[in-house]
Amino acid sequence: MIVMKFGGTSVEDAAAIERAAAIVKGRLPQKPVVVVSAMAKVTDQLLAMGSAAGAGDRETALKLARSLRERHYNTAGELLGTGIFTRFHSELEADFDSLDELLRGITAVGELTPRTSDLVAAYGELLSSKLATAAFSARGLDATMVDSRECIVTDGTHTRATPLFEDTNHQLRERLQPLLNAGRVPVMGGFIGSTKAGVTTTIGRGGSDFSAAIVGAGLGAERIEIWTDVDGLMTTDPNVCAEARRIKVISFDEAAELAYFGAKVLHPATVLPAVRNNIPVYILNSRNAACEGTRITARAPHCRNFFKAIAAKKRITIVDVAAPRMLLAHGFLKAIFEAFDRHRVPVDVVSTSEVSVSLTVDSNESIPALAADLAKLADVKYEGRKAIVCLVGENLRETPGIAARVFSELQDVKIRMISQGASEINLTFVIEEDAVPEVVRRLHKTFFSDVDPEVFA
Ligand code: ADP
Ligand code: ASP
Ligand code: MG
Repeated sequence: MIVMKFGGTSVEDAAAIERAAAIVKGRLPQKPVVVVSAMAKVTDQLLAMGSAAGAGDRETALKLARSLRERHYNTAGELLGTGIFTRFHSELEADFDSLDELLRGITAVGELTPRTSDLVAAYGELLSSKLATAAFSARGLDATMVDSRECIVTDGTHTRATPLFEDTNHQLRERLQPLLNAGRVPVMGGFIGSTKAGVTTTIGRGGSDFSAAIVGAGLGAERIEIWTDVDGLMTTDPNVCAEARRIKVISFDEAAELAYFGAKVLHPATVLPAVRNNIPVYILNSRNAACEGTRITARAPHCRNFFKAIAAKKRITIVDVAAPRMLLAHGFLKAIFEAFDRHRVPVDVVSTSEVSVSLTVDSNESIPALAADLAKLADVKYEGRKAIVCLVGENLRETPGIAARVFSELQDVKIRMISQGASEINLTFVIEEDAVPEVVRRLHKTFFSDVDPEVFA
């Protein structure tokens, strides 16, 4: 069997869902399980509704819910014949009525907890998976919707829950295998799951890729296909640099590094279940299905270019912690990391000197409280609007002088931190957010003007 995951833009409207149906139809002999994201932008809108309701603004919350309702009704109307649409419409109506009720409840309580936020966010994938199932069925596919909350079992860390693989794998086999054996096409929503007690959870933004990998690993898929709106994993974000080239093949390690440092085409957690089970992952374009996309495999082929790709991650804050003399002793770093841990703020890049430590974190609202906590140990400064730029490639391991090449291109750029990652395949540095487009374009020109045709398209 294979897993086919369609991202938000690949199910964004009737035309996109039609394309997805045709692509799935072409893969029927391979026994696909389909995983869909919410329609494009829907998760953002649901979270906005939840926040409005939590802030007591019922009008805004319900107004947003109305426009979401219209969009789903209209898409269903375009995709389904009148007879089917009438039946399906009442199903959608019931879902949207219960969403409205939930939003009223949140307004009444006047607080949006992470647990309730997950309940609201889950509507996106529940609705899109129902819609896709109905549309696929109307196009002659024997599609069955499977509620992911019956399969993906997670812990209770709402908004970024961790899957419990043993329970999940058991559930996946139990629910999906009989459908596949009967020649059906299971359609599931990505991103959502539930605790053992049946409480709805979500596994982090962009998590539908991860869902696809969990399903693929649980069922021993031959391949996992991530269908998106670009031709594959590119040498850099094609929306930042029009010269970006398609990477034909890349290693799991390289792809994981890129995803972690901002190439949002793939969720960083996706790679792990695939690696563990040695399942190749393909990134493919649902608007250009004939393109062979990117294949992610255990080992990278030899490549003439220094790097495979450049990623950039914006909205970064640098936290500088300078030790007062007496705390230079061992235990200082431990105390710092414990503070980050207490505030549940994950750290990306670290650089240390004799007397100070600089760390980068995704900008978020916990930083002031974290800084206040750290101030008990040391002098603390923090500054936002930074970006991490990361160059990735297996060749970094062996080739001397690469860093010099990179930084000689950037002599006029203010570089705040540099780290040549422990993984040995990334070179990472931190700059001002505003400088990202220019820096990425310049590095791209230097390192990708002439590419190895075996590896890049
Ligand atoms: P989906 O909704 O299908 O999950 P995403 O928006 O999450 O799609 O990811 C696809 C987007 O990732 C592309 O439109 C592109 O702008 C962005 N992106 C960033 N870096 C890269 C890269 N190196 N290669 C391809 N796409 C990238
Ligand atoms: N719909 C979710 C999000 O927007 C998950 C996903 O699309 O991967 O974050
Ligand atoms: Mg995505």
